[in-house]
Amino acid sequence: MVPFDPAPAATSTPADRAYLLERIDEAAVVQLYADGFQHLPLREKTLLWHLSRAAIAGRDIFYDQRYAHNLLLRDVLEEIVKHAAAVDAAARAEILRYTKLFWINTGPYNNLTARKFVLQCTPGAFAAAARAAQAAGAAFPLRGGETLDGLLARLSPMLFDPSFESTVTCKTPPDGEDILTASANNLHVGVTMQDLRGFDERFPLNSRLVKKDRRLVEEVYRVGGKYGAQIEEIVRHLDAAIPFATAAMADALRALITFYRTGDTKDREAYDVAWVRDKASPVDTINGFVEVYLDARSTKGAWEALVFYVNPEKTSEIRALADHAQWFEDRMPWDPKYRKAGVHGITANAIDIVIETGDSGPMTPVGINLPNDQAVRERYGSKSVSLTNVNEAYDRSTLPEFRVEFAWSAEEVERATKWSAFASELTTNMHEVIGHGSGKVSEHLNGRPQAALKEQFSAIEEARADLVALYFLPDRKLVDIGLVTEEDHDTIVRTEYETYARNALVQLRRVREGTQIEEDHMRNRQLIVGWLLANTTAIDVRKRDGKTYYVMTDQRAFRDGVGRLLAEVQRIKGEGDYQAAKALVETYGVHFDAALRDEIVARVDRLKLPSYSAFVMPELDAVTDERGDITDVTISYPLDLTTQMLEYSEATRHLRVRNAT
Ligand SMILES: [Zn+2]
Repeated sequence: MVPFDPAPAATSTPADRAYLLERIDEAAVVQLYADGFQHLPLREKTLLWHLSRAAIAGRDIFYDQRYAHNLLLRDVLEEIVKHAAAVDAAARAEILRYTKLFWINTGPYNNLTARKFVLQCTPGAFAAAARAAQAAGAAFPLRGGETLDGLLARLSPMLFDPSFESTVTCKTPPDGEDILTASANNLHVGVTMQDLRGFDERFPLNSRLVKKDRRLVEEVYRVGGKYGAQIEEIVRHLDAAIPFATAAMADALRALITFYRTGDTKDREAYDVAWVRDKASPVDTINGFVEVYLDARSTKGAWEALVFYVNPEKTSEIRALADHAQWFEDRMPWDPKYRKAGVHGITANAIDIVIETGDSGPMTPVGINLPNDQAVRERYGSKSVSLTNVNEAYDRSTLPEFRVEFAWSAEEVERATKWSAFASELTTNMHEVIGHGSGKVSEHLNGRPQAALKEQFSAIEEARADLVALYFLPDRKLVDIGLVTEEDHDTIVRTEYETYARNALVQLRRVREGTQIEEDHMRNRQLIVGWLLANTTAIDVRKRDGKTYYVMTDQRAFRDGVGRLLAEVQRIKGEGDYQAAKALVETYGVHFDAALRDEIVARVDRLKLPSYSAFVMPELDAVTDERGDITDVTISYPLDLTTQMLEYSEATRHLRVRNAT
């Protein structure tokens, strides 16, 4: 997957509608538009509506996975927000700020740094706000006999103490702790890495692992199991969607429902295969336990849903890459034994998102390649999507000052202004289609390099995909297959390499505390630039007026270095070489100079530039006739994060009551 990094932004053309809605600290809130929706046939609109209900139905699963106290905290915060008129103005402003960041990050941990953020008013001011809200009708989730003060005391360490359960996912734990005990997420309870030795995990992706009476228990995510009420509701909406789907998509939806019912790995594999086989449907969804970034072991899937339709005009570029995937595979700069023969089944689409929830919303990736199961990928292929309307919204909401501040020369700014959006979309597509889609691993890994590489897997895999894109970007093949023109090719390569080098500096703004990078995509980007700085002459570190710049000076050296590093990264994945992965990631991808970060943060803050963006989704409404049949589905744009978040929470409240066991 590729999450967006706003550094490589393009020119904002003046828009007659609102993209950037508000700023909360370092976060930007942006409205997402799906312009093609209204022109779709009713059948597809109806399908999208049912799928979007399934997306909302599972949202609370991810809240609970991310932090065991998340839903309780959200209930309390939302009750105060709903009765905010009764609250003192200063406390109200702070509680709103915190609650919006809480929604954006799905809980009190920053999505990029994994670190906890806290309320910045006093516990007394917060308690006064809660009492005022209660007097105005707020209903707080009190446990039998508990008072409001009792509840607030219970929540106090979660809301106010940054050192209490400080990190949601910790891949480099402090001494005396391991990656599981140091991580505050709810995927493992009371479990250490030591406990897992010799344990036969039957539901690696879709269970919570709990230590009970010194035994490990897998609480399986399925109908009748953990999150049973939410999953049943998801299944109900998926089932209602089937009559409106194409035959191939209906097969995939049925397979997904079977997997949600049994939770069995073989049914998940069958679903992955059915989903990959559906190559031509105009509407598609991803709904389930998919990405493993939240888990320090890179094993447990975080729940997410994406609902989308194909954007035909934008699809031709990404298709050209998929059609020539074997050509690229045959020329990968790694040991030929890791090259896949007979690459098949790569489907690639540019899509417009209708809704994203869970692990994919309100913060969203810009590109996705699935399934993650290496064995399915090698045998059946994969599907890649490029999120066109997300890219557009980023582009329209980003400020041009970024480039001016961090580029060394006026020419670099000019190139970035003209080409960076184009170059970044192209490399995102390459990252997904020929990056994640490429290569094979040694037999002894049984198709599961994750198990061998553990907490290093995700950063290594993201680095591999980025390196493939950077390596082939200058290749003449891109001209031959019509992705770039011959005359612009060199400038596009230069722009992307410059942007990539700059980004290793600019991204430090996102890690305001500590001196460690936790997020895997950020690690991978830091790793690549750090390695190039140490091992090639491609990038110059320069200073001017007390400001630091990373200046890409030699395209050829950049590409040669990328090729060498890629060969090693593929070897690491192909052999599951954990020691080499750990050494590479920790040497180049994790640590940074705090003084340099402070400089970058100061430069960014002076310009008031956001560090990350969250999206308000379009809203679909079904129009029904007297028999309850859907006669139309309308799309509208709420233009307000608070409204949408409160609505989503309300829509699933009844499921949580049923689940409260
Ligand atoms: Zn990726």
